[in-house]
Amino acid sequence: MATLGVLALQGGFEAHQRAAESLGHRTRRVRTPEDLQDLDGLILPGGESTVMLKLATLGGLDAPLDAFVRSGRPVLATCAGLILAARTVLGPAQRSFGWLDVTVRRNGWGRQLDSFEGTADDTTVPLVFIRAPRIEAVGDVEVLLRLNGEPVMVRQGRVFGATFHPELTSDLRIHRQVFGT
Ligand code: GLN
Repeated sequence: MATLGVLALQGGFEAHQRAAESLGHRTRRVRTPEDLQDLDGLILPGGESTVMLKLATLGGLDAPLDAFVRSGRPVLATCAGLILAARTVLGPAQRSFGWLDVTVRRNGWGRQLDSFEGTADDTTVPLVFIRAPRIEAVGDVEVLLRLNGEPVMVRQGRVFGATFHPELTSDLRIHRQVFGT
C-alpha cells in the first residue's frame, strides 16, 4: 500500500482518489509544497491546464512539483495533467514541465469530438476522452496504448501520461500499472 498525492488545485482529483483507494492505496490532496512530503507517488488529474499552471505558481508549487517528479517516484498524468507534463504544448502554446518527451495539442480532437469513448487498439482498455489533448509527436518515450494507431498513453521512466480519463471508468488497470496492487 502506498500513500499517493493527487494534485488538487482544480479539476478531477476526487475520481482519481477513489480509483487509487479502490486499489488499497491511501491518498492525500496536494495543494501546498508541504503536502508533497513523504508521498510514494503522485497523480496529476484532468481539468484546465492553464488554471492549474497559474494556481501552481501562486502556491509556490512549481519547483517542489518538478523536484518530486524528477525524484523517480511513480507519476500518472492524465489529460490536463499530461499537458503540464509534456515537453511541448501547442494549440495554443503554453509553458509546461517537460517530464515527458511528447508534443501535445490541447483540445486536439476538434469540436465535434469534444468528448467520446473508445477502446485502445489490441486491448479491452476503455478510453474516455473529454476535450482531450492529442499526442502529435513522441520522442524518448515508450508508447503503451494507441487508438487507431495514434499514441494515447506513454511512459518515460516512471512518469506515465494518458490523454484519456482512466479514473472515470471502473477499470483500474491503468492505476494498477503505475502504482501497483
Ligand atoms: N482541454 C483541457 C486543457 O487544455 C484539458 C481537458 C481535460 O483535462 N479534460 O487543459
